[in-house]
Amino acid sequence: MKAQILEPGAVLGVLGGGQLGAMFAGAARRLGYRVAVWDPDRDAPAHQLAAYSFTAPFLDVETRDRFSQTVHAVTYEWENIPADLCEWLERRHPVRPSGFVLRIIQDRIQQKQFLEGHNLPVAPFAVIESPDQLPEAIRSIGFPALCKTARSGYDGKGQWFIQDPSDVAQVSRELYACTRDGQRWILEQAVTFEREVSVLVVSGPNGNCRTYPPVDNRHERGILRLTLAPTSLPVETAANASHLAVQAVSALNSPGVFCVEFFHTADGALFINEIAPRPHNSGHYTLDACTVSQFEQQVRILCGVMIGEVQLLRPAAMVNLIGNEVSAVTAGSGYSDLMAIPGALLHLYGKRTIRAGRKMGHVTFLAEERSAAEERALGLIKQLSERPFSALAGEHVPVQKTEPRDV
Ligand code: AMP
Repeated sequence: MKAQILEPGAVLGVLGGGQLGAMFAGAARRLGYRVAVWDPDRDAPAHQLAAYSFTAPFLDVETRDRFSQTVHAVTYEWENIPADLCEWLERRHPVRPSGFVLRIIQDRIQQKQFLEGHNLPVAPFAVIESPDQLPEAIRSIGFPALCKTARSGYDGKGQWFIQDPSDVAQVSRELYACTRDGQRWILEQAVTFEREVSVLVVSGPNGNCRTYPPVDNRHERGILRLTLAPTSLPVETAANASHLAVQAVSALNSPGVFCVEFFHTADGALFINEIAPRPHNSGHYTLDACTVSQFEQQVRILCGVMIGEVQLLRPAAMVNLIGNEVSAVTAGSGYSDLMAIPGALLHLYGKRTIRAGRKMGHVTFLAEERSAAEERALGLIKQLSERPFSALAGEHVPVQKTEPRDV
């Protein structure tokens, strides 16, 4: 049976209204769709682009009914929205990726077991059902290791690095302190990687997949700092990463945009770190450097139309603007200096308050050679590092004032 196509004019619902939701809404609007954003945070950036805004908590049944009556199809922009809500909506509308995918991905343990069950390479891990199991888990995984909450962690939040035996008691105490009903953790071997790589996979309604070229990522304190496109991995290894990414996404068996993150070790091995069931920060460069962006792909998939080209038109380097770093390029000479750099493209997310570790925007540098884009990106990072974001906890600066509309 041919999948139904949603034509321009239809209302596309997105659960979550952060920058990913806002960039989805931008792509949808460009193609003539209206967007319904549901995010309990009235200041979430996507509300500014919404034809319909919903700001009640996700468990609000009356809002769920109104949201459902408003939209023709639903996607989500982060994996921590309630899977029950997704599945309820899925019984009434196309939801892409599926609620089943969301359930697997939003639990790190289920995700790792799923990947392992499909013979995909992941670093050794152990499941921790209660804090007293930490020592036993350490014995099986060894040092160094990372302990992560099974659910709700992101950007390095809810993670403990365990370097040696002297860290175990402290981490145990912290696990006890944050024990909630049903809370579980995963202990992963800390992979000594040479680089981190990610692959965006676009999985169309008929199961056909396309991959953007793999990219190199550098993180600082668990947060993405820099993405370089394309990767400098040897061609064969890059092809292997793409192949593994498609295998992982095919196993999930749902249309959608996915990002598969890898560790690449010195001996040439690839391990999957995790999968995001949505456009990803490391794919923001596609807005400026590719024929069709990851967000337009998300729109196309949701509407049941052909997925677009995934061609990289120019090498690119993307730098995240984190916390107060954003001020360095929006105020004073920093703004005009940035605008004067050839191929520099600034994206601001319109968040009203700056907080340490919060992603406020990004800059993509385009150039004829990756090395030139990287050089400009590193120049910006050096400039930003003169005021490191770690020192800025609790800083609140209004950057934009708009009132969301509620329906
Ligand atoms: P995650 O939230 O799991 O994506 O982790 C954020 C970042 O922490 C990753 O991109 C890595 O830089 C680092 N990290 C996470 N898990 C591991 C691991 N098992 N071994 C080494 N580094 C890791």
